[in-house]
Amino acid sequence: PVKTRLNVHELIDNTLEFRSYVFKTANIEVIRKYDQNLPWITADPGQLQQVFLNLVINAEQAMRKAHDGGKLTITTTREDSFFSICIADDGPGMTPEVKAKIFQPFFTTKGPKDGTGLGLSLAMAIILDHHGTIEVESEYGRGTAFTINLPMDSPET
Ligand code: ADP
Ligand code: MG
Repeated sequence: PVKTRLNVHELIDNTLEFRSYVFKTANIEVIRKYDQNLPWITADPGQLQQVFLNLVINAEQAMRKAHDGGKLTITTTREDSFFSICIADDGPGMTPEVKAKIFQPFFTTKGPKDGTGLGLSLAMAIILDHHGTIEVESEYGRGTAFTINLPMDSPET
């Protein structure tokens, strides 16, 4: 794993582009609310892409299960020392019992064909390795939002 300076918006756009066929066929509308500031951070692009992909595929699967299509909203916010990325869906959400376990390795509510239960534990490990945080908000019947905070490059570097 090699960390380089990268533009988070480009990385998210690549992930969304990669899944654009699924969004079309599953009737998922993608809404991007990007911060105007340039989102430069130091990270491993392959690993970060893996995190975004895991979160986006989870959202797709949740929205497919819930109804015909849905909205995937990606919001980024630049704070003083960190960059925040929120990936939200309007799928079925989670019960508190499920929510409590989602970051455990091998925890899945999906069949063996759709889930290994490793996506979120891997995402957590990658984000912690980048000195960031990952948190979930979910309301049963309303949707789910994952928020990742990653340290920003200091301006002088
Ligand atoms: P997997 O996708 O293989 O089941 P993950 O670690 O990616 O494993 O996710 C674990 C569990 O968290 C899922 O099985 C599901 O129950 C729940 N989950 C994750 N993302 C969402 C979401 N966007 N909406 C509803 N439930 C979710
Ligand atoms: Mg998953």
